[in-house]
Amino acid sequence: MRKNIVAGNWKMNKNLTETGDLIGELKLKLKSYTGHTEVIIAPAFTNLFYAFEELRQTAIKVAAQNMHQENNGAYTGEVSADMLKSIGIDTVILGHSERRAYFNETDAILAEKVNAALENGMTIIFCFGEKLEERKSNQHFEVVAEQLSKALFHLSEEQWKNLILAYEPVWAIGTGETATPEQAQEMHAFIRKQIADQYSADMANEVSILYGGSVKPNNAAELFSNPDVDGGLIGGASLDSESFVSIVNAFE
Ligand code: PGA
Repeated sequence: MRKNIVAGNWKMNKNLTETGDLIGELKLKLKSYTGHTEVIIAPAFTNLFYAFEELRQTAIKVAAQNMHQENNGAYTGEVSADMLKSIGIDTVILGHSERRAYFNETDAILAEKVNAALENGMTIIFCFGEKLEERKSNQHFEVVAEQLSKALFHLSEEQWKNLILAYEPVWAIGTGETATPEQAQEMHAFIRKQIADQYSADMANEVSILYGGSVKPNNAAELFSNPDVDGGLIGGASLDSESFVSIVNAFE
């Protein structure tokens, strides 16, 4: 059975002190958590090692928000999978729309990053989704199918075991505008069908597909109740412990 996952993408927020405060609150609030949802947080690079150490004995996992596709070399300012692994981080978010939009990450570059992460034994939360104009012109299915096939369909079934998908319509990220539960379910079912057609229905059934884009405590339960929505990638609402924990609890 595929896993339910709630992951917090902290983006470029929280310095070390603030990271400590938020982690402290999360530890306290999730201390007696008995649900089956996997909880992940993704702080900034500078705070990853600290977060990992703080959360070692807990059920909360720590992920990176990005990585470079090479393991080392003359890439000033970049961080590699090998470096992440060496501090205990084995999960990475790749393909976030902000990386695609502001840092020119193409499907081809993302395919290389995916390969590098998998070669280093990492789990990937792979983000993709259409822009507003693409949805308005009814191209959203086509766009999503292309993003999947260009970055992921060269992988083996075995490699897919380390992939978590996050469908994030760009028009819903940080805008307060959420996809309706029907829109989310429709796209998630489409994504699963693409995987089933490329690989097999059995394999497609094992892949966790998260929804991201203005998930909040007041809409999480309804979004997560859809059969093909296996959790969420949470931006803004993951920066507040009460909101994030209530989204985690939306599964129960
Ligand atoms: P949001 O961000 O929840 O603030 O819309 C989601 C994301 O970018 O992963």
